Amino acid sequence: MSRADQTDAVWVNKIIPISTVDGPGARSAVFVQGCNLRCAYCHNPETQTLCRHCGLCVPGCPSGALSQNGSRVVWNPVLCIDCDQCLDVCPYFSSPKVRRMSPQDVFAEIEPNLPFIRGLTVSGGECTLYPSFLTGLFRLAKDNNLSTLIDANGAVDLSLFPDMMNVTDGVMLDLKAWDPEVYRRVTGVERTQAAENNLRFLSSQGKLAEIRLVCQADWIDVRQALDGAAKTIPHAVHDTPLKLIAFRSYGVKGEMKDVAAPGLSEMETYRTYAESIGFTRIVIR
Ligand code: SF4
Ligand code: SF4
Repeated sequence: MSRADQTDAVWVNKIIPISTVDGPGARSAVFVQGCNLRCAYCHNPETQTLCRHCGLCVPGCPSGALSQNGSRVVWNPVLCIDCDQCLDVCPYFSSPKVRRMSPQDVFAEIEPNLPFIRGLTVSGGECTLYPSFLTGLFRLAKDNNLSTLIDANGAVDLSLFPDMMNVTDGVMLDLKAWDPEVYRRVTGVERTQAAENNLRFLSSQGKLAEIRLVCQADWIDVRQALDGAAKTIPHAVHDTPLKLIAFRSYGVKGEMKDVAAPGLSEMETYRTYAESIGFTRIVIR
């Protein structure tokens, strides 16, 4: 496949050729760089911002994979040993290990996996910041009979991008929090109407593949968020999959890096509560 016009190109953090944890069945998973939130519990903090080429990570690279070329930091993937020292050093929640890729570039890397996968999931960072890229990539996926899923943080109103949604089979949607103050503390930004809009819009389109909520009692208003979602989509709550994710500090660089994880018994109380307000398809992870 030829290298295409770069108009819709984005910075790609990584491509997992075959994943079994990014949606149903075996799928390729693409993680783009850049996010509009700054979640205190982010598990991929190195995907949050675009590299500003400050050069701080260059001297510590043990394999010479990083170099300063004028005003830019350049990464050589052939030399890189994936020690992640650069990610540990970066004070800006970024990574030098990114590639500028068009939808065609990404699909060319996925194509060899076609005999082994049934779908494609795009995550981040926040991939819905790049609707033209997603539209182009998912058109290629559809041409090859792949199902298409988006992993979204919920802060972008997806109804504004009909072309993208026409080629998207489903969205795994984060709830984050419900109360505006709690939401601001957890995500670092103001809560907007996008959360409710997305629940209603995706549910009405049959594309709400999953609601996701990270649970930690001191930081997240778990019951209020579940209530809010249930009241927003009252007719769909019983058959919308809900994933309750126990907060884990592993990999977290944000404010919650030293916060304790909830135990299984606490997670079961959230399951019981979710069941009491109508959810039936609940998974705890
Ligand atoms: S992960 Fe970063 S620091 Fe480690 S070898 Fe690769 S570029 Fe260098
Ligand atoms: S990855 Fe971070 S530390 Fe390295 S050059 Fe980019 S902004 Fe600077």
